[in-house]
Amino acid sequence: MRKNLKTIIGISVLGLVLVLLTLKFLDSSLKPITKEKILLDTLVTIKVYEKNQKRASQAINKAFKEIEIIERTANNFDSKSDLSKLNREAGNEPVKVSPDLFKMIEVSLNYNRVLDGAFDISILPLVDLWSFGKRKDPPRKSDILSKLSLVGIEKVKINSQDHTVSLAPNTGLDLGGISKGYAVDRAIEILKGEGINSALVTTGSTTRTLGQKPGGQLWQVGIQHPRTPDKLIGIVNVGQKSISTSGDYQRFFIKDGRRYHHILHPKTGYPVEGIISVTVITDRSCAEADVLSTGIFVLGYPQGMEFIEKALDIEGIIITSDGRVHLSRGMQGKIKDMPNKIF
Ligand code: AMP
Ligand code: MG
Repeated sequence: MRKNLKTIIGISVLGLVLVLLTLKFLDSSLKPITKEKILLDTLVTIKVYEKNQKRASQAINKAFKEIEIIERTANNFDSKSDLSKLNREAGNEPVKVSPDLFKMIEVSLNYNRVLDGAFDISILPLVDLWSFGKRKDPPRKSDILSKLSLVGIEKVKINSQDHTVSLAPNTGLDLGGISKGYAVDRAIEILKGEGINSALVTTGSTTRTLGQKPGGQLWQVGIQHPRTPDKLIGIVNVGQKSISTSGDYQRFFIKDGRRYHHILHPKTGYPVEGIISVTVITDRSCAEADVLSTGIFVLGYPQGMEFIEKALDIEGIIITSDGRVHLSRGMQGKIKDMPNKIF
């Protein structure tokens, strides 16, 4: 009798294992639904794993709409954006801003402290002067120095109670270092709200994953080769994470053999030297990952890596101007085919 019971239990367990394995196989054969759109001045991709195709498609469309809202909020190149309106009021009364704009400013100001001033959204006067994408030669040193006097986080005052922001005369904010990550966060929140639990949203340089791929597989996020477009230097396998890369190849010009790029040092007013790219992988939000990759780029090497090693929930890859690839301790051995040097 006992033997029979054991056999019955044995068969039941085996059956259950087979059912689970089959479900897992069926699950991992689920194809993703992927849509792409040009937004935030780049190609945004949303990939969703969901059995109900209609639900997936509707959720993705809603997430794109949300990204459009963030674009209209934080775009400095659009004179009608909330951010442009706020900047025009510099020197006047405090301005009440939307929850999205307030959040981006608040997070940026907090990280200005955390990163010793390296990430500074009051950098707009310098960003305007350098005008990457338009200029083909560096501005005069005297112009850089005069704009530098308008940069500094003490020029920005916020009030968390009534969501107002006030700016000192002739100053302005640039959210180019956080808005893509923030938009990715908002898109992920929308997908979650629509009942999606397996997704990836990426702007190319900022990515966030939600849950796991079917069958519990990890997500693969490629890291762009900073000198050969369309080539990857490595692929990171991640669970639910935020990943952001900042590089000297995203907006730049070359004059007399020297590269001038869009990540500016808030203390000198010139593009940061010594670094080619910084990738951050973290459990924090994608807005924070975005801020961190820009800020750590400004901190440079080795200070940027020391910052990463001190934080328990941040891993990173820093490529220095000599082409060397530096991995944080937690990343070592984790990236397939990662070279030690890229040139
Ligand atoms: P990212 O591509 O996220 O690294 O952000 C780069 C963008 O952030 C630039 O194009 C500027 O709009 C802005 N930016 C440049 N330097 C800084 C800085 N030191 N702190 C904050 N934002 C910056
Ligand atoms: Mg950034």
